[in-house]
Amino acid sequence: MTKTRRFNLTESQMPRQWYNIMADMPNKPLPPLHPGTKQPIGPEDLAAIFPMELIKQEVATDRYIDIPEEVLEIYKIWRPTPLVRAYNLEKYLDTPAKIYYKNESVSPAGSHKPNTAVPQAYYNYKAGVKKMTTETGAGQWGSALAFATQHFNIDLKVFMVKISYNQKPYRKSMMNLWGAEVVPSPSNLTDSGRAILAKSPDSPGSLGIAISEAVEMAAKDPGTNYSLGSVLNHVLLHQTIIGLEALKQMEMADAYPDVVFGCFGGGSNFGGISFPFLGENFRNGNKTRVVAVEPASCPKLTRGQFHYDFGDTVGLTPLLPMYTLGHNFVPASIHAGGLRYHGAGAIVSQLLKDNLIEAMSVKQNETFKAGMIFAKTEGIIPAPETSHAIAAVIREAEQAKKEGKAKTILFNFSGHGIIDLAAYDKYFEGKLEDHEVTDAEIAESVKELQQLV
Ligand SMILES: *Cc1c(COP(=O)(O)O)cnc(C)c1O
Repeated sequence: MTKTRRFNLTESQMPRQWYNIMADMPNKPLPPLHPGTKQPIGPEDLAAIFPMELIKQEVATDRYIDIPEEVLEIYKIWRPTPLVRAYNLEKYLDTPAKIYYKNESVSPAGSHKPNTAVPQAYYNYKAGVKKMTTETGAGQWGSALAFATQHFNIDLKVFMVKISYNQKPYRKSMMNLWGAEVVPSPSNLTDSGRAILAKSPDSPGSLGIAISEAVEMAAKDPGTNYSLGSVLNHVLLHQTIIGLEALKQMEMADAYPDVVFGCFGGGSNFGGISFPFLGENFRNGNKTRVVAVEPASCPKLTRGQFHYDFGDTVGLTPLLPMYTLGHNFVPASIHAGGLRYHGAGAIVSQLLKDNLIEAMSVKQNETFKAGMIFAKTEGIIPAPETSHAIAAVIREAEQAKKEGKAKTILFNFSGHGIIDLAAYDKYFEGKLEDHEVTDAEIAESVKELQQLV
């Protein structure tokens, strides 16, 4: 019998609704608080920067939410994405484990991020918005939103973390190609950026700083809205298309995951692949383990505090209940730019607090080694972010070999690394650092949290 390697849905089998885990999780996240009054915020507090449809999704409790027809049509450019059995990787690892991955790298931007960029641009377009701002780390989110906004004739300004702006010039080219303007952050275009530059002129920037700049610009201009690529409930909601497709495809493969892995920046690709499987755990008593994989240099889930914190550095966003390293934490300049974020989404944080998901961290060199192994065996070159999940999968498969257990592993292949080749060069030259944060650094950085609420 020949082995099936790729499990593909037809367009007509694509899910037509997103899955909202708020309907099924045992404890709902605590409400976001107004940064000034420290009282729970209402929809009107967010209306300055988000369209009402997205604000509604942020607090929705319906289990399923319809995907608009126009969004489904654009999804079809790259969706459904394939579920692939990684036979070659299994063979290389000589493991009894079955390894499946959901390949989100086939989107126009090369990652899972267009899954939410398209609906976000769409709801802004429906609300009559003509200008948007956003931030980007490695450039993945900025390029995804640029692809989406140009489709709806919305002008986009992207604040790009300065270290990535310099390390990854081609992502800037992609954003320009899709019509967006790109500004290295911290910049002198905003009060937030100018304040950071006054304190540290050589700041490499961070996602937290870039968010402050993008939010400030949108909040000050009634005609401009802001868009966030991760963390928020509506973003994770849109990403569940990944796991919903994977549920159907695993069924086609006649398999079901014992464990699901996703790399973790703010939680969007992790939530996207895992929430539909967690839903099965909650509703049907399934026992799939779900594991978030973060960098050792930015360990909010494994070593941060559960506390209300700002989503940005300057303190312009609502206070969200999250695992955090403190909003002033500036992670080391690792190449997985998309994972350099101080905090985590509220839903994922609540799930971790309730021990319904697990978290682990991996050092940079182990992730690049995993990325290289994947490229050599399965052919596709992973993004440095994605390689965090792969490193965890390799550990799990090696463990399965030791125990002689044939378990089924599923992970999200969040993006390709074709534009991150300079980072692979550094790895081959032995120039990548395994930066690990000290307890003292974390203690210092989370001190500020006690004053917030
Ligand atoms: C942005 C990004 C991530 C991290 O963001 P999440 O919101 O945690 O998913 C991971 N992988 C890739 C390829 C990315 O572009």
